[in-house]
Parts: sequence; C-alpha cells; structure tokens
Amino acid sequence: MTPANFDFHCHSVVSDGLLPPQDVARRAAANGVDLWALTDHDDLGGLESARQAAEEAGMRFVSGVEISIEWQGVPVHIVGLGFNPAHPRLTAGLHELRSGRIERARRMGDALAAIGIPDVYEGALCFVTNPILISRAHFARYLVSIGIARDMAGVFQNYLTPGKPGYVDHRWATLEESVGWITSAGGLAVVAHPARYKMSGSQMRNFLDDFKDVGGQGLEVTCGSHSPDHVMHFARLTRHYAFHASRGSDFHGPEESYVDLGKLPQLPEDLKPVWRLLS
Ligand code: AMP
Ligand code: MN
Ligand code: MN
Ligand code: MN
Repeated sequence: MTPANFDFHCHSVVSDGLLPPQDVARRAAANGVDLWALTDHDDLGGLESARQAAEEAGMRFVSGVEISIEWQGVPVHIVGLGFNPAHPRLTAGLHELRSGRIERARRMGDALAAIGIPDVYEGALCFVTNPILISRAHFARYLVSIGIARDMAGVFQNYLTPGKPGYVDHRWATLEESVGWITSAGGLAVVAHPARYKMSGSQMRNFLDDFKDVGGQGLEVTCGSHSPDHVMHFARLTRHYAFHASRGSDFHGPEESYVDLGKLPQLPEDLKPVWRLLS
C-alpha cells in the first residue's frame, strides 16, 4: 500500500532525542505519518516500544538505526531500515560502536578543560538518557545550560565541530562494516543527510561508488537539513546511481529540530521510494 507520508529518520531518548520512543511514535501519528521508522544513533533499544506504540497509533513500523561511520576521514551517518533487530552481527557491531563513545566523551571533556571550561563530561552526563549513548548533542545541551553559547547551533559552530576545541578524532565503524551489519540482518542501507558532509563533488561520487560497491541501496533525498537545491542535487545522484530515495525529518525534539516528524516535502515523483524495497 502506498504510504501518504513516510518518515524514516528520527531519534528518541535511546540516543540523543528528547522524547521517549512511544511519544515520538504518537507525535509522528498525530502529524499524519503512516509509515514510520525510529532511527536512534547506534542503538536498537527503542525499537520494541516504538513498534508497539506505532501499531497502537495505526502506523506501519519499520525497524531503523543511524550508524556512525568514518569514510576517508569524513564522519558520515548510514541509516539502516527493515532489518532483524536480533541479528547477532548487527547487535555485536553496534555494541562495540557504543562502547567507544564513553572514552571519546572523556577526551572531549579533557579538551574543553584545556581551554578553561572544566567538568563538561560530568555536566554532559546529566543530559544523557541512555548511559552507553553519550553524544555531542548532550555536550551541546550542557554547554548551552551554562551559558557558553545561546543555542545548540552556536555550540557546535564554536566548540564541537572539526577544528574546534571540543572536537576530538574518533574511530567509528567503516562504511563496509555498517552496510554489512545492516544487509546481513536483512535490511537496507541509506546515506543519511548527504548534503551535510564536507565533501567535494568528486569525493561525494567516490563515496557513493564505494557505498554502492559494498551493497548500499538508498539516499536520503528529502530530509530536515536539505534545501530545495540539495533535494534536486541528490535526486540527480539517486537517478545516476539507480538508488532508491528516502525521506526523513531527523527529528530530535520539539524545540530542537529543523522540521517536525512527517512535515517535509514529498520526494520528487519519478524517484523510487525506499519503502518499495521493504517487504
Ligand atoms: P555524535 O554522534 O556524538 O557525533 O553527535 C552528533 C549529533 O549532534 C547529531 O546527531 C546531532 O543530533 C547533533 N548535531 C550535530 N551537528 C549539529 C548542529 N550543527 N546543531 C545541532 N545539533 C547538531
Ligand atoms: Mn543526533
Ligand atoms: Mn545524522
Ligand atoms: Mn539523525
């Protein structure tokens, strides 16, 4: 059945979102979403309650995750959809990926202490809702709360992005690992918010060549952080690579997101939507 409004990218308190999975489900349904995936960063812990709440609210549900990887030194996010959440290769890979976050967060705390902002790791922990999933978003919320910047965007711009004092390198998963975990669990892999990566046009094509080679199948064409020009650009690349197209708000919370669940433009009509690949 053709969905009227699918949203395949959003977060709950299981990663760095602000609402419990059930509340994200209800909000999606209230906004008219009829086919939905929860895609927390590196963690599948919210899927069961999300599925239940989605079904109660009359939405079809697809399992989802957003995996943190690094490709040629560039941090990239790969969304997995429609996989078996109990598959051991996927769960073991994600488990290891999550574990690395704590040590990285400590180093971020040390780096910020070195420029005179002490105890940020401890402060960020107060904003963490899943002890194994500390993210830069939690650091940003804490830094806003102590008045270091006016909003999240300001904190990221001045402290938490590459080249800024609170940013530290980290070894995430590889492209091949992430796509392998997803596809071996029966799911499909999609590049999240492709316009957000600091890549030249030729780097992006190399990246998409590699993504296709390892079994990737989709690109987010319409998403919370894409302008109309981005949509056109990534629609062209989707056609060129014969990928399927995805659509996702990347909702994190009512006051913190570019767009609300389901409130984004439809995909360009000629593209093949990713939901067609899900049985
Ligand atoms: P991490 O996975 O720890 O590297 O944290 C990345 C998360 O930080 C993203 O998923 C967003 O939720 C958030 N984030 C990244 N950049 C920004 C930004 N410029 N403004 C607000 N939030 C951001
Ligand atoms: Mn996030
Ligand atoms: Mn992301
Ligand atoms: Mn996201």
